[in-house]
Amino acid sequence: SAGPEDMPPEIWEKIKNHPCYSEEAHHHFARMHVAVAPACNIQCNYCNRKYDCSNESRPGVVSQKLTPDQAVKKVLAVASEIPQMTVLGIAGPGDSLANPKKTFDTMRQLAETAPDIKLCISTNGLALPDLVDEICKYNIDHVTITINMVDPAVGEKIYPWIFYNHKRYTGYEAAKILHERQMLGLEMLTARGVLTKINSVLIPGINDEHLIEVNREVKKRGAFLHNIMPLISEPEHGTVFGLTGQRGPTAQELKAVQDACMGGANLMRHCRQCRADAVGLLGEDRSEEFTLDKIEAMD
Ligand code: SF4
Ligand code: SF4
Repeated sequence: SAGPEDMPPEIWEKIKNHPCYSEEAHHHFARMHVAVAPACNIQCNYCNRKYDCSNESRPGVVSQKLTPDQAVKKVLAVASEIPQMTVLGIAGPGDSLANPKKTFDTMRQLAETAPDIKLCISTNGLALPDLVDEICKYNIDHVTITINMVDPAVGEKIYPWIFYNHKRYTGYEAAKILHERQMLGLEMLTARGVLTKINSVLIPGINDEHLIEVNREVKKRGAFLHNIMPLISEPEHGTVFGLTGQRGPTAQELKAVQDACMGGANLMRHCRQCRADAVGLLGEDRSEEFTLDKIEAMD
C-alpha cells in the first residue's frame, strides 16, 4: 500500500489525513459520503444503480438520497459528533458530475461553512473536462476517476452506451469518446494540481490483463494512486445490467493483476469499498445514527 516513501513529500502532506489514500489515516480519520447525485450519463454493464457507483458498495444496503441542503445539514451534524471526520465525498449513487448542480451546490455550501473538511468526488470522467474549473473553484482537492480500459475495443464490452452532448452513442464510438474524455480530464486535473486517483473494476475475461496497460497510461498522465477493485457479483447484489453470468475475480486473480501492476502507478490495496453514504472510521459504519429523520430532529 502507498506510504510516504512512494511519493513526493508535498503530495504525502496533502493525503496523510485522508482515509481513502493513506492506510495509516484509515485508522485515525473518518470520511463520509453523501448521496446527492442520482443520475448517470453512461451505462456500465456492471452497474447496479440501486446501490452505488463504481461498484464501491456493499450489497444489500441502499443509500439515502439527499438534497444539497439536507446533505450539508447531515455533514455538519456528523462533523460535530465525530471530530475525526476530515473528508466528505460525493460518489453517487449515479455520477457526481452528471448532477453538476446538486454536486457543486453541496460543495459550495460546505466550502463556505466548513472550510476544514476536505472535499472529494468520484466520477466516470465523461463530463470531467467541462467541469475542471468548477472543481478547482470549490477547492475539491481529490478526484477519483473510474477507468476500466484505455482501448475502446475493450471498452465496448463494458459500456453499452453513453449520453454526451445531448446525444446517445453506442458501441465502439461510445467507448472511444469516454476514453478520450477520461484521459483529457485526468491530464487537466494533473495540470491544475488536483490529486487524482484511478479506480478500476477488474472484470475477469474482459479487462484483467488489460488493466496493466491502464495502469501504465494513468501513471503517465499523473494519477498518483491506482485502486484495482474486484467486480462484485454476488446474487444478493441484484441483477447486474448486461453481465448475466459474469463472475467476479477470485482473491488470487485480483492479487495477480495487482502484482503485475507494481512499479506502475502506486497501488492502493487497503480499500474495502464503502457505500455511498458511509459514515465513520474504517471498519465501523455509523450511517444509521445519521439518517435524515434523526438529523431533522437534532435542531
Ligand atoms: Fe475510501 Fe475505500 Fe477506505 Fe472507503 S474503504 S474510506 S472508499 S479507501
Ligand atoms: Fe453505474 Fe457509476 Fe457506471 Fe454510472 S458510472 S452506470 S452509476 S457504475
